[in-house]
Amino acid sequence: MPKSWEFIGGALCLDFINTVHCYGASDPGDDLTTADDLLSWAMAAKVLTPQGVSGMKRRFHSHPAAGRDALGRMKQIRTQLREIFTSSARRPRQEHVRDLNSLLRQQTAVPGIVDEDGNLQLQWHPHSLPTQGIILPILLSAAQIITGGDFARVRECASPTCTFLFLDTSKNHSRRWCDMRMCGNRAKVNQFRERQRRSRSG
Ligand SMILES: [Zn+2]
Repeated sequence: MPKSWEFIGGALCLDFINTVHCYGASDPGDDLTTADDLLSWAMAAKVLTPQGVSGMKRRFHSHPAAGRDALGRMKQIRTQLREIFTSSARRPRQEHVRDLNSLLRQQTAVPGIVDEDGNLQLQWHPHSLPTQGIILPILLSAAQIITGGDFARVRECASPTCTFLFLDTSKNHSRRWCDMRMCGNRAKVNQFRERQRRSRSG
């Protein structure tokens, strides 16, 4: 069954980090379990066109080890990025900037605009590893948050069962939930039930 991907982070790198629902839980709910999942996410995120996905799918199906390696590498990068954005500091740590720079230096993709059924889309064409076309836009998105002054605006959802990260662009910097419909409503319902329980018992 095709997965439905959440894009509520406000930045590509945060949406990529959010492919795990609850980091640290015994079942973290990782949506990326196969290389096909990764490609499906990349297409939904408009990082790859359907044509680009088909090419990589063919490659991964004929070389399953390459698909597994690519997925493993992407997950490593996902963990690294999450560490950068959950350091609870106002500024990114020096070693994190160094790590991100080292990842950026390893990329050799070039940008190009492709016409996808009349929709013009920016694509990164990798020189070597095919997944660089997915990695590079994610890394650039992280670099943009860091250099654009938004680092301190990255927050984690207030729900105890959700570790989604998002860019808080609210005027008074008061957004608490990744998504009001998902976690905000659930929290409100729980608070309501708790109040009712207390008024009944008190
Ligand atoms: Zn949430």
